[in-house]
Amino acid sequence: MWRAAKCTYLAAWEKELMKIRAISEGAYRHLIGILIRGRDKFVADLLKKECTCRKFQMTGLPCPHAVSAINCAKDDIRKYVASCYTKAAYVACYTP
Ligand SMILES: [Zn+2]
Repeated sequence: MWRAAKCTYLAAWEKELMKIRAISEGAYRHLIGILIRGRDKFVADLLKKECTCRKFQMTGLPCPHAVSAINCAKDDIRKYVASCYTKAAYVACYTP
């Protein structure tokens, strides 16, 4: 399994998977499931300022999926950035 984990490109990974499949069908199915889960699509909810990749809610900045959705909606991306990143918040932080 470590050989498959160390593969840096898909063709080599598939080759290692075939070797694993010859040894253990269960291990093969487990590993192929990881690839399928990795191809999941992410869904950005602009109203909640969330994305299923979780970067949006963790950073307060729109993730690439949210940026794509915002651009598709032809909206202003600045509306979706957390208030802590605004100039007003910065100034308030450093004003005695
Ligand atoms: Zn995302």
